[in-house]
Amino acid sequence: MSAQESETVERLRAGHDPALLPTGPQPLIPLVQLYARDVPALPFPEGADLLQVLWAPGSGIEGCSANVQLRWRRASDVQEVLRTPPEPAYVECDDHVPEPCLLQPESVQEFPPGHLLDQALKKRVYDWCEQKSVSYQSDLSVAPGWKAGGWPAPFTFRDPADSDEDEEWQCGECGGRLEALLTVDSSEWDGNSGSWRPAETASKLVGDPYRSLRNPTMMTIGRGYTLQVYSCVSTPSHLPRTIMQ
Ligand SMILES: [Zn+2]
Repeated sequence: MSAQESETVERLRAGHDPALLPTGPQPLIPLVQLYARDVPALPFPEGADLLQVLWAPGSGIEGCSANVQLRWRRASDVQEVLRTPPEPAYVECDDHVPEPCLLQPESVQEFPPGHLLDQALKKRVYDWCEQKSVSYQSDLSVAPGWKAGGWPAPFTFRDPADSDEDEEWQCGECGGRLEALLTVDSSEWDGNSGSWRPAETASKLVGDPYRSLRNPTMMTIGRGYTLQVYSCVSTPSHLPRTIMQ
């Protein structure tokens, strides 16, 4: 190891003294920006044609907190775009800082995840899938990867909330009904869900040697989970609720 590399390793090992980190509110960073014309199936509030999702790239992104915020706007109201938008003085979790991507949204057909089917129908569907040698969960029902709208993903490392935990499915501000708005995923497909892989042939994307079509944003949620963002149906400007699974 060269002297310079040793010095870098030492600096990484030393970490930061939390007492030296700046205190007070930090600017949120952009997570995703969607125009209504690009996602016609996603309901926008009256008068809005632009959705901006902002967040604080740290550990506090779960539940209902000001760390994840929605901005429903009219694009024509945006007059002056900041050339150097404010940045947080430090980032708690760099896995939550997306690599900029230009989106080309594609509509796909989904079906309800297994846990939302009634038992008789679920058995028929799963039997049919077994005969066809396909996986309902991985190949057919819910698309992996980043998406707007659609069905909630199947639960992975825990069970869906019971009815006595219904708070999880209510708006944290008004207790109202929620609907799926956005899913942030750690990859666009995995070994089981390769049937959803996009048709593009390039496997590498410019910018970083590890950046690929499988993870163009270079983000990881938890240990490779998804973060589902649900918005309030009656008042979309309310803080969204997020569920990691
Ligand atoms: Zn609400």
